[in-house]
Amino acid sequence: MNKFDYMQKYGYEQLVYLHDRHSGLKGIICIHNTTLGPALGGTRVWEYENEEDAVYDVLRLARGMTKKAACAGLNLGGGKAVIIGNSKQLRKDTVRREAFWRAFGRYIEGLGGRYITAEDVGTCPEDMTLVRMETDHVLGLPTTSGDPSPFTAYGVYKGIKACIKEELGSAKLEGVRVAVSGVGHVGSALCELLAKEGAVLTIADIDEESVKNVAELTGAKVVKPEEIYDVDCDVFAPCALGAVINDNSLSRLKCKIIAGAANNVLEDSQKHGTMIHEMGLVYAPDYVINAGGLINVYQERIGYNKDASMAAIDQIYDRVREIIRESKDTNTPSYLVADRMAERRIEMMRNINSIHLAK
Ligand code: NAD
Repeated sequence: MNKFDYMQKYGYEQLVYLHDRHSGLKGIICIHNTTLGPALGGTRVWEYENEEDAVYDVLRLARGMTKKAACAGLNLGGGKAVIIGNSKQLRKDTVRREAFWRAFGRYIEGLGGRYITAEDVGTCPEDMTLVRMETDHVLGLPTTSGDPSPFTAYGVYKGIKACIKEELGSAKLEGVRVAVSGVGHVGSALCELLAKEGAVLTIADIDEESVKNVAELTGAKVVKPEEIYDVDCDVFAPCALGAVINDNSLSRLKCKIIAGAANNVLEDSQKHGTMIHEMGLVYAPDYVINAGGLINVYQERIGYNKDASMAAIDQIYDRVREIIRESKDTNTPSYLVADRMAERRIEMMRNINSIHLAK
């Protein structure tokens, strides 16, 4: 589908290409919807195979951010940035790294606050400190809320407890078998939280050092990345990249619940969200369960307070339970229940914005 048709179909506002010849910056910012507030979404650095993949990724991720903020009750719109490159390579040259992120910061500044960035896969708080030299429109700095990943992990942990409460009858993790795919920033923190409460973990990652470290810390069993889909478990927790719930994986999964951190985990929301429902599996919609990091960085906009942030993230437990219950009561796939929840809030707020106020 051509890009304007795609943007028209899903209601996008803006897609911006960024380029800086000297530092090698090649990026794309997408602003999906700003009804609820400025578009907030992290910056992903990834070695995309081609430009089309990068555009498709940023479009899908930005739309997910709109829904994530809407469901979490935040006054934020949805946006995202992707940068085509290798994050490890970029960190090797400190001068280039500074120029790269400052150039990126200047482009964000040029959007006048319509887009606010933060970390995502391939970026870290130190990168954001460089971005901050050029713009105020960046959150998740080491001096304020810091890395959002532990907060995302905490939210996913609460969401998993909500799922097991609904499906297994108790929120206790003792003996619950969880298969975690991807033990990076979020996955590793999640494993620690789960292991502390006695969950039995199986983990996989393409990075051998990461799996080794997490296995040592948590006692998890390690399997190869491709084997994780065949693990007999209660919960499958995808915490690597998106689109891992697809025709292939769904025919192999041996779990009762799918609940993890990865964004856009369903390759095709409608098709695979419906298949999950028809298979009788519980699915915690990705943008609901992984909102902890966003909820935490949002606190920076209203005056950062960690306790308030944790209390807001705790609400993921009730939100996930509410969605699962409605899904069961109305025989509606949970992805659709969450989509409708997000759309309803956006429509309600669009209406109040139409009430005229004298300047
Ligand atoms: P990360 O880069 O730190 O970790 C991702 C991990 O997945 C890495 O260890 C990587 O080696 C591994 N991986 C990549 N491909 C894999 C494969 N095929 N099989 C197994 N492992 C594989 O990223 P992160 O910050 O932990 O984020 C993980 C996911 O959660 C992403 O989808 C991200 O968009 C989503 N997410 C993250 C946050 C956050 O706060 N960091 C917030 C919301 C959603």
